Amino acid sequence: MRSGDTLKVVPGGELTTFDREHLWHPYSSAIDPLPVYCVTQAEGCRIKLVDGRELVEGMSSWWCAIHGYNHPVLNEALRKQTEKMAHVMFGGLTHRAAIELGHLLLSIVPPNMKKIFYADSGSVAVEVAMKMAVQYRSARGEKERTNFITIRRGYHGDTWNAMSVCDPITGMHSLFGAELPLRYFVPSPVVRLGETWREEDVAPLRRTVEQHAQDTTALILEPIVQGAGGMSFYHPQYLREAAKLCREYNLLLIFDEIATGFGRTGKMFAWEHAGVEPDIMCIGKALTGGYMTLSAVLCSDAVAQGICSGSPGVFMHGPTFMANPLACAVARASVELLLQGNWQSDVLRIEKQLKRELAPAARLPNVADVRVLGAIGVMEMREDVRMEYATRRFVEEGVWLRPFGKLIYTMPPYCISSDELSRITSAMVKIAGEKELLQS
Ligand code: PMP
Repeated sequence: MRSGDTLKVVPGGELTTFDREHLWHPYSSAIDPLPVYCVTQAEGCRIKLVDGRELVEGMSSWWCAIHGYNHPVLNEALRKQTEKMAHVMFGGLTHRAAIELGHLLLSIVPPNMKKIFYADSGSVAVEVAMKMAVQYRSARGEKERTNFITIRRGYHGDTWNAMSVCDPITGMHSLFGAELPLRYFVPSPVVRLGETWREEDVAPLRRTVEQHAQDTTALILEPIVQGAGGMSFYHPQYLREAAKLCREYNLLLIFDEIATGFGRTGKMFAWEHAGVEPDIMCIGKALTGGYMTLSAVLCSDAVAQGICSGSPGVFMHGPTFMANPLACAVARASVELLLQGNWQSDVLRIEKQLKRELAPAARLPNVADVRVLGAIGVMEMREDVRMEYATRRFVEEGVWLRPFGKLIYTMPPYCISSDELSRITSAMVKIAGEKELLQS
């Protein structure tokens, strides 16, 4: 094949062969990769494969595509912005798309969030939040307070600092070991959302804060839902107690709402379950309705004041594609679409159906636990799932799900119909009962 020739898009054809030989996929081998499925089109809650099969989308493309695919309103926002400008640098320039998105965001985030820093992705937002927390101390002359406290089973992204606050067992600490900054880890909360609160749940956090506050700048955690670290839902009182401790010991509180934001848990943001405001907050993923990568770090006036009144008086971060106009325009359209629509009743409808239809899985010998919150439905298996087998079986059943570790879960677009959702839940329950599913 000459360079410039078009590769043929046929099942098992040149295109997929090229992919297999040259493209690295997430968390995958470049020399012996698992199969990938080639998508030619996606529309609403359906993904179309090159062989003509159509799958019901149960993942929202890693939790982003909340409105489904190929949405006319989002397409139009992008098209209109393209005609004005795709990009201009944000250093020294500004534009309507960034301003209007910022204005809209401030109306839905915790009321104390006043400043917005646009970043490229979730992981970069976490890096930015952590840099803010360190610069805040440095500007205040508290230079020894550079470390972070976090809770186990967390996930905050794959870049260096974000990795350092991911769960040390299920995260990548064993791989990168001594190269990662050493953080203070506290056992993850045990009391679940909906259970009776027990005071002792927060005792390990209290002990760690008491011991290490003097060299720590912030507590960072995912509020209510620990996502990629284990898909668990913890009690809102934990957050309230954590916020109290942060105030008492003058620690900043960082909420990573990258996965929980934009309605996924039944609230616009998960902090609302507890009613406690963070000092710094990261958002991303569904921000653009899954169209393109964009994240934002928001902070209080006090944090911004702290950072910018000391030396050097500015925050030292500035990505090339900061506040990319295309991303901002589509994000604004996505948030408006959410606010104008019936996301609350959609998420509630999905929650009820997930609870009803996943409940039978709890009786299966392979299944350790079934849990649902908002538009998140999780089956925790007794052992790790064989990913290749599971994915192939789900595709055969006409749904797109991607399990990890012991978890089979769905986070569908909010526009999913009840018939489509039933296709997902019945595939989940059916495949959970298959003996080939688990690794042993
Ligand atoms: N924080 C949380 C809570 C996440 O769930 C994720 C992504 N799964 C990230 C950060 C990282 O986001 P990104 O993949 O966009 O870098």
